[in-house]
Amino acid sequence: MDDLIKRAAQELAEAKHAAALTGAGISVESNIPPFRGKGGLWEKIDPMEYAHIDAFMRDPAKVWNVLIKGMKNIIAQAQPNDAHMGLARLEALGRLKTVITQNIDGLHQAAGSTDVIEFHGNFAWQRCMDCDARIETVKVDMSRVPPLCECGGIYRPECIFFGEIIPPQHLSRSQFVASQCDLMLVIGTSATVQPASYIPVISKESGARVIEINPERTPLTGSVSDYLIMGKAGEITRLIVEALERLL
Ligand SMILES: [Zn+2]
Repeated sequence: MDDLIKRAAQELAEAKHAAALTGAGISVESNIPPFRGKGGLWEKIDPMEYAHIDAFMRDPAKVWNVLIKGMKNIIAQAQPNDAHMGLARLEALGRLKTVITQNIDGLHQAAGSTDVIEFHGNFAWQRCMDCDARIETVKVDMSRVPPLCECGGIYRPECIFFGEIIPPQHLSRSQFVASQCDLMLVIGTSATVQPASYIPVISKESGARVIEINPERTPLTGSVSDYLIMGKAGEITRLIVEALERLL
C-alpha cells in the first residue's frame, strides 16, 4: 500500500488537470449512512413511497416528516472527514481542479473545495416551489410541516428526488471535466450507477490515469482504474496528501 500511496502522490504532483469523483463511501466516516446497499437508508424506507417526486407532490408533509427531517438531523451534525479535507487541500495546493460528487451532504464545500459539481443537487438549501426563494436547510423552522415560505409556497430540498432528471448542465460539465482531466481520483464509489458510471470511463478513454480509493474491489478495478488503493477514504487520502506535500 505504501508504494501505491507514493505513486499516487507522484502522479498528482505531475498532473496538470486532476479531478475527483466521489460517492457515498467518502461520507460514511462522517456518519452519513449510504442510501443504497447493505445498511442503506433504502433498506429501511421505501424510496418510491418517500423519495419519489410523485410522493412528495402527493403528500409533502409525509416526506418532510419521514425523510427530510431525518436527513436534516443527520447532515446538521456531520463534519467533513480527512478525505473531504484532503481534497480541499489538494485544491489549495493547485493539484486538483474539480470535485464531481454523487453526494448531497455539502461536506466538500464545508471542507473548503470551491469547484464542486453535485450530480444530485444539494441538501444544504431548500427552495420555495412557488417563488424560488432559498433558505439554508439548518435554518428551516420545523414547527410546522411542511415548512412554508413567506409567500405560502412549500419548501423542497435542492437535491433531486427519484423521478427527476439530473440537471443537464451538471451532467454536461462533469463529462467535460472527465474528458479534459489527466488524472481522475475515484473515492468511495463503485460508480455502478449512471451517470457517475460514465465519468471514470470517459477519463480513461481520454487518456487520463484513474486512481481508485475504495475499501474493496469494484467493477472499475482492473478494467477502468489503473490501480486500487484499498482502505478507508479518510486515511488513504490523508496519507496521499502528506506524501505529496513532501514532494512539493
Ligand atoms: Zn415562496
